[in-house]
Amino acid sequence: MNRQDILHSLQTTPPDVLIVGAGINGIGTFRDLALNGVNVLLIDRGDFCSGASAASSRMAHGGIRYLENGEFRLVREAVRERNRLIQNAPTLVKPLPTTIPIFKIFSGLLNAPLKFLGLLEKPAERGALVIKLGLIFYDAYTGKNRVVPRHTFEPRRKALQRFPRLNPRIRYAATYYDGLLLSPERLALELVLDAEAEGAHARALNYVSLVGVDGQTVTLRDELTGATFDLRPKVIVNATGPWIDFANRTLGLKTHYLGPTKGSHLVLDNPELRAAIGDHEFFFENKDGRIVLIFPLFDKVMIGTSDLPIEDPDSARCTEQEVDYFLEMIGRVFPDIPVRREQIVFRFSGVRPLAYTGSAKTTGQITRDHHIREDSLNGVPVLSLVGGKWTSFRAFSEQVTDRVLALLGQTRRADTQSLPIGAGANAVALKTTPDYTRQEIHAMAQREKIVHLDDLLLRRTLLGYLGQLNRPRLEQLAGWLGEALGWDDERKQAEVGRAAQILEDQHGVRL
Ligand SMILES: Cc1cc2nc3c(=O)[nH]c(=O)nc-3n(C[C@H](O)[C@H](O)[C@H](O)COP(=O)(O)OP(=O)(O)OC[C@H]3O[C@@H](n4cnc5c(N)ncnc54)[C@H](O)[C@@H]3O)c2cc1C
Repeated sequence: MNRQDILHSLQTTPPDVLIVGAGINGIGTFRDLALNGVNVLLIDRGDFCSGASAASSRMAHGGIRYLENGEFRLVREAVRERNRLIQNAPTLVKPLPTTIPIFKIFSGLLNAPLKFLGLLEKPAERGALVIKLGLIFYDAYTGKNRVVPRHTFEPRRKALQRFPRLNPRIRYAATYYDGLLLSPERLALELVLDAEAEGAHARALNYVSLVGVDGQTVTLRDELTGATFDLRPKVIVNATGPWIDFANRTLGLKTHYLGPTKGSHLVLDNPELRAAIGDHEFFFENKDGRIVLIFPLFDKVMIGTSDLPIEDPDSARCTEQEVDYFLEMIGRVFPDIPVRREQIVFRFSGVRPLAYTGSAKTTGQITRDHHIREDSLNGVPVLSLVGGKWTSFRAFSEQVTDRVLALLGQTRRADTQSLPIGAGANAVALKTTPDYTRQEIHAMAQREKIVHLDDLLLRRTLLGYLGQLNRPRLEQLAGWLGEALGWDDERKQAEVGRAAQILEDQHGVRL
């Protein structure tokens, strides 16, 4: 069904379950409910996977550092889900060798015990012994079914042979494996299309917002036309990520579930650095224990991330101070590779929907685990999905789906554990070069729920992330999209203007 068909169908066949927010948690729940035959509508005020889910570090990872916080359940689940992602979506999630340059031997030994005693103000840099111990545990969680290889530990001399540009002051280098989400945005889209392929009971609409409530009736707005319409679902899933408390307020519920933090990233066009890292992610710590990642994103290098408290998720931008910090961190590990600001081709920032704790001493210590909070809208259950990681979305969605099925009095008839993602080949394959043809753009316009030009530039392709855009290219793509979507000249110009403004304001890209 296309957008108009879905909007019309809601008048005759309203949904039993409304999911507000099409980030990975809303989308994962949508897929699971669709698979179980539930009449479900997924909406997002923006595009699919355009909030926190588009701002992640793209790691399908167990979170080795959460071991130190004692979060064994979280790590075990995330490692399992990482393995499943690599197996179920092999074209979009690849094993990623991850190297930790180690500068100290004993440092950080007291982090974990002090953390348990609540005495840790700021974690110290972790040394070789703590890292070795962590990696032994991490390997153990990967289990017998070795989807990724075990870790290795190399002394300085060997590590420098392999990575000659690495800081010669290192003592050791450890390498373990996680997964890289090549395009989280396309992975999310594949899940939406897979769910809709289950039948007309599963409908998904981008650019539709939750805007109001009256009794048990909620009001939605079509952001393209401004038209509003009402629904009366049996269950509401609030999957608005960092906006959960805002969306609950729209429903008249006063909640304080989140204590969100902002994280930013840069994409650099620096061939020297790209050659120096090879196919490895470099994962290391600042002196105060903050985590830094440098990894290959096709022919570019990505670096992140920060972890700063933030009130308004809409205000998240990568600042010049963060850029300074990232460039300084690269210098710590690859000191003789010059990196210049002009080499930044893309920057982005997003907000982690972390649970409000009030007690954590540093943002890095706040749990990344997930849970459901349940409220009632005059008798209609409202499930708020708090926290969670991209990696473990499937497990979280399963938990939410079980709860929704119980509320509807239905039983589970299928599960997603080994369900391939995108197996129906709904969508156009991911490309890393900018040479899209008119036919490919038309195919995407028809099959991939594109509403705006920026959906194409930022989420259906890697054109934005990889710095492959200029003004004539934007005009050409708007022309091709417009042919398929029936845009007149005025709309095409408006789309080019909108996309250019988003690229500049949110991603520091001046065309
Ligand atoms: C900097 C950073 C790095 C991260 N790195 C990783 C990583 O490497 N690996 C990992 O596993 N996880 C990582 N995460 C965590 C992960 O990305 C998030 O936890 C996850 O994406 C949250 O998804 P979500 O669906 O809950 O929220 P979101 O993706 O934010 O989705 C919520 C959606 O709700 C919509 N919405 C809001 N209000 C309304 C409304 N009124 N009506 C309709 N729609 C509305 C928004 O437009 C948005 O699309 C990272 C997160 C950040 C921010």
